[in-house]
Amino acid sequence: MSRFTLLKKAKEIGVITERYPYKPTKVPEGFRGKPEIDPEKCIGCCACIAACPPNALTSLDENGYRVIRIFYGRCIFCGRCVDVCPEKAIRMTEEFELTADDHEELVQEVRLKLVRCSVCGRYYDTERHYRMILKEFEEAGLKVDPEVLRRCPEHRMGMSAEVIGLRRVRK
Ligand code: SF4
Ligand code: SF4
Repeated sequence: MSRFTLLKKAKEIGVITERYPYKPTKVPEGFRGKPEIDPEKCIGCCACIAACPPNALTSLDENGYRVIRIFYGRCIFCGRCVDVCPEKAIRMTEEFELTADDHEELVQEVRLKLVRCSVCGRYYDTERHYRMILKEFEEAGLKVDPEVLRRCPEHRMGMSAEVIGLRRVRK
């Protein structure tokens, strides 16, 4: 194709390039940008952490809190965390401009209060998750002793439903 034909064709098509970065660009539907955790919905179950291929998601229990952390410097924007979150607490945003001067600007942290085991006193679960389990029992019409249920996995091992105090509430 001659240069002349090419220029003619381009004129027919018109401008197809965008003025980005001088003007903001629109991302296509389903675009996977920066993942974000909703701190109001997260229960600190760590399912997203187990599913994250490059370990961009981590958790740390310290001073009575569980800190769920995303480091965008490691994220590959695969969306696995969104798929596995039982509370739909993570979503992929349309944000993709993530350059930063400081490492800490590339981090999102969610802090959740922990509960202690009623036997050994160690922190073992988030308060939000514990309350959610209690509510689920209630909604299923089951009565359970909250103190007995608040045991770490080690001290709950081998306990039967009878010992936990689980019984169906007659309506
Ligand atoms: S999008 Fe993928 S890499 Fe990024 S935090 Fe989620 S699971 Fe990890
Ligand atoms: S974001 Fe979802 S999967 Fe990750 S800890 Fe929170 S509730 Fe669990």
